[in-house]
Amino acid sequence: MEDKKTCSSCTDTSCATKNRRENESEHDFADRQRLESRLCRIKNKIVVLSGKGGVGKSTVAVNLATALALAGQRVGLLDVDIHGPSIPTMLGIQGQALKGEPGELLPVEVGGLKVMSVGFLLQNPDDAIIWRGPMKMGVIKQFLTDVNWGDLDYLIVDAPPGTGDEPLSVCQLIQPLTGAVIVTTPQKVAAVDVRKSVSFCKRLDVPVLGIVENMSGFVCPKCGELTQILPQGAGRQIASDMNVPFLGAIPIDPDVARAADSGKAFIGQFAQTNTGKIMQQIISQITDPDKNKKLNA
Ligand code: ADP
Repeated sequence: MEDKKTCSSCTDTSCATKNRRENESEHDFADRQRLESRLCRIKNKIVVLSGKGGVGKSTVAVNLATALALAGQRVGLLDVDIHGPSIPTMLGIQGQALKGEPGELLPVEVGGLKVMSVGFLLQNPDDAIIWRGPMKMGVIKQFLTDVNWGDLDYLIVDAPPGTGDEPLSVCQLIQPLTGAVIVTTPQKVAAVDVRKSVSFCKRLDVPVLGIVENMSGFVCPKCGELTQILPQGAGRQIASDMNVPFLGAIPIDPDVARAADSGKAFIGQFAQTNTGKIMQQIISQITDPDKNKKLNA
């Protein structure tokens, strides 16, 4: 039976959740305590961000979470990409009915990973598109408050793309964040958005764990030659310009897309391939406590 910590039974008098804030209603205070009592059981909370959709943010989130679970960590993967929740498809758990009771949602367990997706809430995948702004924010907040993860070493959060109100809500509600991983593609056009994402993190005091350049060249499956299909290097350049770590470049690899479509994490099956090794190097930089002192603090 899991120990149910609550704010009222907690002895940490220094916690900001102990006392009601000025101008905070009873209701908001109770909500904040409920959210905090869930989040304080999670050691490391990492958000995966991108300047725009389609660059591989969910791919990085799924593979990071799976690699950590395979390494024996207790891991949760939260998909709050309200416009395109693709994690259930990538892990072969689409169409799952939500389990739990009102106010208490239980994540779906797959391969040692606890998964919760906003996609499980949508009976029709087009539903989220018609929600107005405040509704989206309400759904994100309720969702974060209600999911019962239990004790975790890592929570990996697949955030909505961009730097608007939705990722802002996610980063403000999940506090304190260990840090953010920012995913981009290598062309200069994407660079403008990455700059915004880095500034967004700096403004919110979220440490940038690093930038991942995805779809960076294509490795020929026959001869192994790397061809730069898109203009290259923007992720590396921005990382150096903005003084944040560059974590590595993942090539376009048909097996990455195939694994996602077949509902199995790439890293679980292809860890020994060139792309798999690149991913592992990226992941170890995110999670190595010596390289990133903020982790496991
Ligand atoms: P986002 O979360 O940024 O919208 P996704 O992770 O959903 O992007 O990726 C978009 C599509 O590109 C998916 O079909 C995914 O399988 C594919 N994809 C992502 N990264 C790669 C890669 N390195 N090689 C091949 N396909 C990729």
